[in-house]
Amino acid sequence: MRRGDAEALDRVDPVARMRDEFDLASGGGAIYMNGNSLGPPPRAVPEAISDAVVEWGKRLVGGWDEWIDLPARVGDRLGRLVGAAAGQIAVCDSTTVNLYKVAASALGDRPERDVIVGSAGDFPTDRYVLQGLAAATGRRLRLVDDPDLQGPAEDRLVEAFDHRTALVCLSHIDFRTGRRLDAAAVTAAAHRAGALIVWDLAHSAGSFPVRLDEWEADLAVGCTYKYLNAGPGAPGFLYVRAEIQDRLRQPIWGWFGQAEPFAMGPRYEPARGIASFLTGTPGVVGLRAVEAALAVTAAAGVERLWAKSEALTSLLIDRADERLGPLGARVVTPRDPSQRGAHVSIAHPSAWPWCRALIERDLVVSDFRPPDVIRLGPAPLYTRHVDCFDAIERMADTLAGGVDDRAPLRRVT
Ligand SMILES: *Cc1c(COP(=O)(O)O)cnc(C)c1O
Repeated sequence: MRRGDAEALDRVDPVARMRDEFDLASGGGAIYMNGNSLGPPPRAVPEAISDAVVEWGKRLVGGWDEWIDLPARVGDRLGRLVGAAAGQIAVCDSTTVNLYKVAASALGDRPERDVIVGSAGDFPTDRYVLQGLAAATGRRLRLVDDPDLQGPAEDRLVEAFDHRTALVCLSHIDFRTGRRLDAAAVTAAAHRAGALIVWDLAHSAGSFPVRLDEWEADLAVGCTYKYLNAGPGAPGFLYVRAEIQDRLRQPIWGWFGQAEPFAMGPRYEPARGIASFLTGTPGVVGLRAVEAALAVTAAAGVERLWAKSEALTSLLIDRADERLGPLGARVVTPRDPSQRGAHVSIAHPSAWPWCRALIERDLVVSDFRPPDVIRLGPAPLYTRHVDCFDAIERMADTLAGGVDDRAPLRRVT
């Protein structure tokens, strides 16, 4: 492929115009390949935040008449992007806190079972939350190993499920390698073993046409600041399948999960439905940002975004094989598009100084994941084919020119 071929693909890209919804000029000359870590602001988001602040000043405490419904209302909108019918998603708290809430509620539903199954290669917060829950509830945490750092395949995971498994908790798309699991098949296997399953959708929401209801998932959590672009620290979300909402009991008995928060009664009585998974006062400004950001993804359509992601990741993989392969770099993301998500990971012994040089020289903003991986997270809403082409060229030139292997190991992005 030549650069002109990438430009030609951009000319026929059906979602190309979505790039105009973003203000990308302030990023300097670097190509932003970190949408999987923190999406840039859609123009509508600062506006929504400033409107929320004006409304706060005008309405003061009277604003709660409407603000109180935001977690469920924005949750329903998000549900349309992840295949969930209304009434099953709340936008609230952080992903980590939501994971704790849904995982603890699942364990409470399987008191006679003593094993939690996860993945050894999963994102740290997921492993830590499960470690904490295992310690607190006297269970054993079984983390399925990931020997080749590809993310464990479905069959290795499924082998670990049995009559002692209370809960399975997995990332749909692996944060390090971009490997994507067959969620419907893994969910069915967990159910055959009699376990409940939680899916972490941090790298899927907004990038892949997730089908929570169709998968028959029990529980899920995810972020809104990655591919959904709602801003740093924007609230996370949780999904609880309708049929189990009133049976599961989450561990944080706050007043917003109470049946009648403003009755201020003596005892906790859980609300019905998804509301019982709320805790305390919702972050209204953040919720308004999420609402505005979701509209941008919805306008493009997740199916179309995923089709473009497949093309962008294929382009990155092909160019990386050709230009970076001879320099000793290796693509560790699955080459079969049915087994990957929207980012591409490249391993090299000098990955850390390489990644740092690309950032410091204002060439490519990507991120490093130990031990030796650079992740490239093109986002189909605003990343062009030509950006992917140029990013690999810049990476090849930088590596060929030499990078400082003595650079101290420190995260900058
Ligand atoms: C980014 C990410 C998180 C982030 O959790 P926070 O509570 O928002 O910090 C959780 N899980 C996975 C898999 C992630 O990639």
